[in-house]
Amino acid sequence: MSNQDTIFHKIIRKEIPADIVFEDDEVLAFRDIQPVSPTHILVIPKKTLPSLREASDEDTALLGRLLRTCSQIAKDLGLDADGYRVVVNAGEGAGQSVFQLHLHLLAGRSFSWPPG
Ligand code: AMP
Repeated sequence: MSNQDTIFHKIIRKEIPADIVFEDDEVLAFRDIQPVSPTHILVIPKKTLPSLREASDEDTALLGRLLRTCSQIAKDLGLDADGYRVVVNAGEGAGQSVFQLHLHLLAGRSFSWPPG
């Protein structure tokens, strides 16, 4: 196991179960195990990318694909009308605890601003 191997890599490799809602060659989306809203889905790249801080120009298309996956899942699940929030925590100081980039797709309740 490399030091960049995380629990999300095990989910990508299907070594541990996850409630997968979308998958293609580059992207995987699954339900968060400790949801903070009625809908809480994590959208991750299959390529190792510890956080948004490590993203480079070569990841531009992938980053777009991750965001587009969020909007398509939201549409498919009927979340457009009430709205949803997409969050990326980059680094421990921002609340990141798993160091494989992930977008949180949150919906099903109202959200305050600024976030805590
Ligand atoms: P973050 O704090 O931004 O790094 O978010 C990590 C998220 O991963 C948290 O919301 C956790 O609840 C979630 N999480 C951790 N382990 C799992 C798992 N095995 N399956 C699904 N979600 C997980």
